[in-house]
Amino acid sequence: MNKHLEAKILNCRDLPSPPIVAARIVNQVEDDCQLSDLVDIVSDDPATSLKLMRLANSAAYRGTKPCSTVLSAVTRLGINVSVMTALSFSLANTLRVPGKSNLDHDYLWRRSVTSAAVARFLATRANVHNWEECFLAALVQDIGMLAADCAIRGIYEDLTVYAQHEYAQLAEIASLKVDHSKLGASLLKHWKLPATIVDAVAHSHALERLMKRADCIDSLWCVAYSGILADAVLLSDELELARAIALGRACMGDLAGNSESEFTHALFASVKDAEALFEASLVPNMDELMVASKSLMFDYMIGQGQAAANDEHVSNLQSRVEELEEENRRDALTGAYNRQYFDDVLDGMINDSAEIGSPLSLMFIDADHFKQINDVHGHHVGDQVLIWIATTLQQAVRDTDVVARYGGEEFVVILPTLGEEHAAALGDRIVARMSEAIITVDDLELQVTVSIGIAAASSGSQRRSSRDLIVGADQAMYFSKKTGRNKCSRASALPQQRSA
Ligand code: GH3
Ligand code: MG
Ligand code: MG
Repeated sequence: MNKHLEAKILNCRDLPSPPIVAARIVNQVEDDCQLSDLVDIVSDDPATSLKLMRLANSAAYRGTKPCSTVLSAVTRLGINVSVMTALSFSLANTLRVPGKSNLDHDYLWRRSVTSAAVARFLATRANVHNWEECFLAALVQDIGMLAADCAIRGIYEDLTVYAQHEYAQLAEIASLKVDHSKLGASLLKHWKLPATIVDAVAHSHALERLMKRADCIDSLWCVAYSGILADAVLLSDELELARAIALGRACMGDLAGNSESEFTHALFASVKDAEALFEASLVPNMDELMVASKSLMFDYMIGQGQAAANDEHVSNLQSRVEELEEENRRDALTGAYNRQYFDDVLDGMINDSAEIGSPLSLMFIDADHFKQINDVHGHHVGDQVLIWIATTLQQAVRDTDVVARYGGEEFVVILPTLGEEHAAALGDRIVARMSEAIITVDDLELQVTVSIGIAAASSGSQRRSSRDLIVGADQAMYFSKKTGRNKCSRASALPQQRSA
């Protein structure tokens, strides 16, 4: 997300803030939370104390004796479950803030609680061990909507009813360039919530992408899928529910159980548990819905295809969201990725490569004497040359490489799997290709050369951070400039700088 916008939103005066209990727990967790610290914090808050005791005495945890103190409840539940549960109940209050705008806060709250219950149900069914984190992440997955609603006046003005999530996403991307999953993740990170929660919220709209992975069932999937099931349950739309369940089957396979009705039954039971836990009625006509959805499920499964038209509508919206997201990642002039996107992905790509022990290199490219092109032929011609450079770079690299415009007439390429030597060989080829080509703009024939610098994320046992990688590649590029331009240099081959 744009740093300026992020700062503006995070500093907005009306922004929801974590309740005191949650804030204290988070502070404590940072300095390695002890059982006794947690008991102290929770004991000051009767509502959260009661919830923890109720959970400790619930069927899932019931021991030989009922728990009647916070200490015994926390001991029985364990520190992680207690922390997550206390955070969940405490943050649930934040979600209950009544709104002034068009956003349907009551629906949002019910969706949060229902998603939390559904995510926990999915996680326990699929043996995803950190189910309590799934519960918390699903509960706060839409907190970005509260933030957007507070920070940007009128952002949800056109949402007359709480329609599908995709409509809200479109409104958010149009005014913020990101949707509430990313905004919420920033907010939770700002509040210092655990990285697993932040990550799950950031992926809460990425179900399609998550489902493409070979082993798709994990906590991210449970959270992303929970919202879709929750919407279907809350909108009391049996067709929507049948479709939502069918969607998950692709990943779930046997986990969906022997029959849809068993799965649906267990799903509704989890929502009923949440109603008891939060003392709220989430779905007033749950029993009717359950009966209706069971018979419909049968029709759906045998391929009546009644939902086809609806499916198309949803998938059109989804592809519009994806289109807008892609647009926001691109530089408007050259079509290369923009600086923001480059900054957003570099760290992740370096970490991914390190994790699998694969090399990664960064290439820095600067057009030579570019100012002269502008001075002699005008900016319009300069622009066309920049477009040509970006296209030529794109054609010279693989689809998995990331070509981005770093600024003015500077480009960068992230090259996963290439060590310095291979990246430099590619750099040499690019230098040669650029200097040999004739570029035609209008009636003009032009030539341009580039200076390139290469740095690798690891050399020997040494690893470079994203910052060092950029500095290394930039210095190597600068060395190419100093030693005649139209060439490619490697960071590791630079003459040693004398230290002061
Ligand atoms: P060097 O070989 O040392 O890199 O020289 P240079 O002229 O390429 O570098 P310098 O930094 O002096 O000038 C860069 C020029 O690139 C100046 C700026 O006007 C031009 N430029 C930056 N962005 C754009 C753009 O979007 N369009 C056009 N036409 N020119 C641009
Ligand atoms: Mg969401
Ligand atoms: Mg230049």
